[in-house]
Order: sequence, then structure tokens, then C-alpha cells
Amino acid sequence: MTSALFWFVPMATPTVFAQNLSLEELEKVVPKQAFRIGKSIVGCGDVSGIKISQSGETKTCSGFIHSEKTAKRWYQVTCTIFSNGSVVNPSCVCRASPNMRTHSCCCKHVSALLLSLYALENCKNLNEHPKIFRRPNMNRFAEASPYLQEKVEFHLTWEDVLSRMTMDPPKKRSYSSSYDVFQTGSTPQKRARRSTPRADYLGWTCEKLREKLREKGENFFGRREELVERWKKVIEGENETATQIQ
Ligand SMILES: [Zn+2]
Repeated sequence: MTSALFWFVPMATPTVFAQNLSLEELEKVVPKQAFRIGKSIVGCGDVSGIKISQSGETKTCSGFIHSEKTAKRWYQVTCTIFSNGSVVNPSCVCRASPNMRTHSCCCKHVSALLLSLYALENCKNLNEHPKIFRRPNMNRFAEASPYLQEKVEFHLTWEDVLSRMTMDPPKKRSYSSSYDVFQTGSTPQKRARRSTPRADYLGWTCEKLREKLREKGENFFGRREELVERWKKVIEGENETATQIQ
């Protein structure tokens, strides 16, 4: 209950401070998991349509990040980078977007954009994936069927990854036409979970009811209606204590 209200408290503009867009700096300021997944997103060629516009000391960057292969969506990510190294207002249209309700300053998509900007500047003329953006476990696809190889984009080279980053607009993926969903507005919030558990115990057998009551140290004798009634009280009691604890 209280957490639902908490989401509407306005928060300060999230800022990431990096002296420059070096890996060491990013690793320090980007949350660990977002950093790790961001590296893999970049390595898999799931960053596209990067645009950088410079005005004075300020760079405004935007790009599309494709994260989950099942989600079939490209998320738009934007951020502003100042010459002093601060990355201001990183924003993404995903549910974990930094300016919505999480306390961390970067979701994995923002992390992927920042890492891509690093890669475009520092890993331009390489023949193969740089170590940090290497896709793990790709060897096992060496003998796979052409279909599978296509699915995992086995033949994706580092050059492909880089050119895809600046491709405009993002091209659809070779193996599916449904990848061209460009999410440029915020994604709808999931409905809050019902706080009361569903009354599925109404369908339980007497045996199960007795078993459950016995586990809770309750009286487990009596007719079915009595058992149901008793279990209902147990659950209600538990919910009350749970709310008090919150
Ligand atoms: Zn995101």
C-alpha cells in the first residue's frame, strides 16, 4: 500500500558522473547488473539508430536498444552528456526507466547506450569483438543448423555491430519481421498485484484443508464447511499481521 504511493514522489533528475566515457568510469557509476547486461547487449548488436547532436559543450544522444529477444521491441533511450563528464537525465521508455520509479540511475538500456558511445569512440577499427563486448559461448553454434545460426546471428562481426549502431532507422532483424516495434513512449505500467490472495482454497479437498490446518497448528477436525471457515480465518489473520509489519 505505502509503496504504491511512494512511486509518485517526484525525484531529482538522475545524474551519472563519469570523468569521461571510459570503461573504468562507467563500471563505477553504472549499477553492476546493468553494466554486465549492457555489455552483452552491445556485443549482440542490439543497439541501433544512435544519434548524437552537439551544441557547445553539450552532447545529446539517443538510440534504440533491443533487449529481450522475445519482447520484439526496440526501446528509445536518450541522455545528455556534458563535457565535465556528467550524464544528465538518462531516460528510457522501459518500465525500469530511471526517471520513473527505480532509485538506480541506469537501466540496462541506458547502460547499453553509454557503452555503445564508448565503443564508437574507442573500438572503431577492430577486426573482431573487443574482449569486453565478446559474446560468450558462441563456439557451440559453430556446427549448428543454418536456421539456428541465423537465429543467434552467429556470423555477426564487430564491424556489423558498429555499423548497426549508427544505422538509421534500425533495420528489422533478419529472422523476424515483428522486430520493428519502436517504443518511443513510456511502456504501460503493470497493474498492481492484488493484495489479498485469491480464495482458491474453496476448491481444495477436505484432505488438503486438513493438511494445511494441521501445518498451522489449527484444529483440523470437523465438516468441510467448518474447515473452510477456519482456513479463511487463518489467512485473514496472516494478512493482518503482514500489513502491520509493512
Ligand atoms: Zn530501459
